[in-house]
Amino acid sequence: MRLSLFYIPLFARALLAKPWRTRREDLKGCVANVFGDNAADRIVTADDETYTDARIGEHIQDEQLPALIAFVQHKDEVAPLIKCAKTHGVQPVPRSGGHHFLAYSALKDALVIDISHIDHVQVSEDGATATVGGGIRLGALYTALHAARGGSADGFDWPGGICPTVGLSGYLSSGGFNMQMRAVGLGVDSVVSAKVVLANGCQVTASPDENPDLFWAIRGGGGGSYGIVVEWTLALREYPRSSMVLMRWNADADANANGNATGNATGNATAAGQDARAEVAKAWHAWAPRADPALTSQLLIYQHSVEFLGWCFGCAEDTLRSIVAESGLPSLGLPEVHYSGGCGTNAARAVGYLGDACPPDEVADQIAPYALNTIQQPFTPLEGFPVFDWDQRPQAPELPTAMPWPRAIRVASSYFVQRDNIPDGEVIDELVSRLDLLDPAGVPFYEWHAWNISVSGDSAFPWREQAYSHLEMVAWGSEDEEAQDGLVNWFEETEAFLRPIVG
Ligand SMILES: Cc1cc2nc3c(=O)[nH]c(=O)nc-3n(C[C@H](O)[C@H](O)[C@H](O)COP(=O)(O)OP(=O)(O)OC[C@H]3O[C@@H](n4cnc5c(N)ncnc54)[C@H](O)[C@@H]3O)c2cc1C
Repeated sequence: MRLSLFYIPLFARALLAKPWRTRREDLKGCVANVFGDNAADRIVTADDETYTDARIGEHIQDEQLPALIAFVQHKDEVAPLIKCAKTHGVQPVPRSGGHHFLAYSALKDALVIDISHIDHVQVSEDGATATVGGGIRLGALYTALHAARGGSADGFDWPGGICPTVGLSGYLSSGGFNMQMRAVGLGVDSVVSAKVVLANGCQVTASPDENPDLFWAIRGGGGGSYGIVVEWTLALREYPRSSMVLMRWNADADANANGNATGNATGNATAAGQDARAEVAKAWHAWAPRADPALTSQLLIYQHSVEFLGWCFGCAEDTLRSIVAESGLPSLGLPEVHYSGGCGTNAARAVGYLGDACPPDEVADQIAPYALNTIQQPFTPLEGFPVFDWDQRPQAPELPTAMPWPRAIRVASSYFVQRDNIPDGEVIDELVSRLDLLDPAGVPFYEWHAWNISVSGDSAFPWREQAYSHLEMVAWGSEDEEAQDGLVNWFEETEAFLRPIVG
């Protein structure tokens, strides 16, 4: 033992003494051995013209330059790839959906182990569970579940988020908030077990009975920290028909309703000529996290409008109307109001994104694939850079493929408002007025989610008990350095303003 410990520093020093290019070539040789015949198709390095496309996920501003991106075909390749990384002194980093806000799934000089092709779905005969490849995207999961229900809008489903290109593994590593969560819990509450490849190359099962600590940690404990999850078994549940509400306060609509231009000087959303955004935000925030737990909702606050979207899980439309009536929102200003009832799950997912009300089942079936039937590299091409396109196949090959998901230069950060420290009206006034300081070209907005979840669960996700709401600040970035610096400053200052209040 003493002897081997003695040799480790010598080995590491010898390894690091090799020129980086040689080490990268050695790493490439090792990965090629693991991959076999089609290695050249699914290994990408900085020498390849598809490198930029292959390394960048949804966010294009992070200049992370990994040593090599390896596109895995089968889960048994993951352990030998980890070994290659260790042998050649580079960090192995798993990637599924490529949506990490700071590109943690494609770190500098790392071996990126991209498992987005491990996206199989096997639903049990009784419909109670689905065994799912660790690299699957949420849209592909919903597509497969829809097919497993025989194309019916009724039956089992799973509480994932709305964005169809987010990877299931990254989603579960950060808890998994969703638009049904106040009724059914977080994504991590609907997991039966997982298969995880550890740093030592062993593949183990993590479940309440086997390796329970690992099972606890991989659900909400942070991505890439405890191993690479190559397969999840998810607990499905019967999804009842739901009702949806969408309300929009819009400066132009209010001006029209009043028969004259009542928008204020900055053109903000108006309540009969006033800026309604702060009043709507205060009413929503005081009510939504305390509303009937069947209702999960979010508020989007823009410079010129504010939009409230609610999903009432298993509710009839009348029930939803009476829940929303308690909020006082309908009587604030002149909102555009859309209620819809009897919504199947994919139809409900479309509200606010593909339409104002949930479409009938047959229409939802027609439009859903354009959003949900994702391929492995689902992002828009980057101008001037060739596309990496090895083995691109939608989850349901017989249906239309999902439209490419836009890549973006985006600045975003998010915070939890805590149950025992709820901001008062003045804080909300200040937050809303801060939004107006930003350049409208960046379409800045707040996305505010009602939490206060009463569903219990035991996982590493740390905010379940404390979270009253979750506030995200988002703006499209700028290629202009000065403008980008100004934006980043605004985020830092707004965070400093919020920090004593939020976590
Ligand atoms: C447009 C958008 C919408 C979003 N909507 C929601 C939402 O509705 N609900 C919600 O909860 N979150 C949402 N998020 C946040 C999202 O869930 C996280 O950013 C998540 O980490 C992304 O997962 P990914 O697999 O796509 O990303 P990746 O960048 O591939 O991975 C994220 C992290 O997980 C690690 N990781 C990836 N695969 C594995 C694996 N198989 N095993 C272990 N670690 C792994 C990576 O190394 C990285 O650290 C959204 C993000 C964006 C950009």
